[in-house]
Amino acid sequence: MAVDSERLKRRFDRLSEIGKTEGGGVSRLALSDEDKEARDLFVSWLKELGLEVKVDDLGNIYGILKGKNPDAAPLVMGSHLDSVPRGGKYDGTIGVLAGLEAIESLIEDGIEPDQPVIVVNFTNEEGARFPKPMISSGVLSGKFTTEDMYKLEDDNGISIEEELKRIGYLGDRENRLQEADKFFEVHIEQGPVLIDKGVNTGIVEGIQGLSWHQITYTGETDHAGPSPMEYRRDAGVGAVTAMSRLYEWVKKMNDETLITFGKIKASPGAVNVIPGEVTFSIDIRHPDKGVLEERIEQMKQTLLDTALEMKLDSQIEDLSYMPPVSFSVKLTNDLENICKNKGIPYHRMFSGAGHDAMYMNKLAETVMIFIPSIGGKSHNEAEESRWEDVALSTDLLYELVKQQVSAGSRVKGS
Ligand SMILES: [Zn+2]
Repeated sequence: MAVDSERLKRRFDRLSEIGKTEGGGVSRLALSDEDKEARDLFVSWLKELGLEVKVDDLGNIYGILKGKNPDAAPLVMGSHLDSVPRGGKYDGTIGVLAGLEAIESLIEDGIEPDQPVIVVNFTNEEGARFPKPMISSGVLSGKFTTEDMYKLEDDNGISIEEELKRIGYLGDRENRLQEADKFFEVHIEQGPVLIDKGVNTGIVEGIQGLSWHQITYTGETDHAGPSPMEYRRDAGVGAVTAMSRLYEWVKKMNDETLITFGKIKASPGAVNVIPGEVTFSIDIRHPDKGVLEERIEQMKQTLLDTALEMKLDSQIEDLSYMPPVSFSVKLTNDLENICKNKGIPYHRMFSGAGHDAMYMNKLAETVMIFIPSIGGKSHNEAEESRWEDVALSTDLLYELVKQQVSAGSRVKGS
């Protein structure tokens, strides 16, 4: 049987009321009163279903269907209930609800899984209030420590730990998810690709890697009037030339490389002064590690060559690097087979944004399912998806869960 699309919609509509904004979105910042209200509602649903509810010391909430063998490594699904300020209703929320719906459907269909099946709400996925996204799944995966998380403060100097205590969601460390067999996350795409392809769902093969750099070009500051063109060492023109060369290079390759110059600053920054120094940022992305690294080298060469040609000094600073993440090939193939059998139009793709699944991938065999986003809008009150796509993607999740829990489960620690 398929999932109950109307029940899913009812829950979605109720959650959409919490932190509702005038523009039709939600403001549900991590560990705010609104987040607490959403958590309380989620917990009440878990209890109604008779699931065991656990909260760990990171504030993650787990709803557990024990299964025949509670010692087996669990199958886990979930996402996040927090949002950015004036964000959308779907981001994160839909992944938590899809997991809950899959568990309720298992119960209704009388399927008792071999292994525990868990739905989880992760704390502070967005990093909008406490400035580190995906921190709680990051701690579970060993990427960050508990201290890294507890010391995070919002703009008013209030720490995550204080807020977890205040809203009653500072649980026990022993409740943490120690290991998992599989992790599935349903999420909206947040980009325009799936609608453009005319499909109902996206099978996510992994998450793009990214690399951030800050470039400084230094020339000579001079008066805009008395300096003849041929004598100038104009850092501004140098930077513009480098950026436009890199932009054309990426466009011409027409592959999955993306390049963005999001911050540009010219000094001293006056209408009648030749800029002696320009700093600009580069964000470059690609889903393949080898290709990404090659692109970074080529990019740096272009930056150096352009500076030399324009008689400028250059400095390239590496700010941060996140290698691409590849999800389970077996699970993406399983999803593809389900789509083919059920006649669900799908598209295989990489995620451009980070998700909790990125860190869960270290703990468990992981895959994500994307719901098409109308207009590609997200982190925005106008975020919207067709309910038909939400229902079909949740069905796809449920089919995958049924297939995996009957495939036999691994005992913990093996
Ligand atoms: Zn999200």
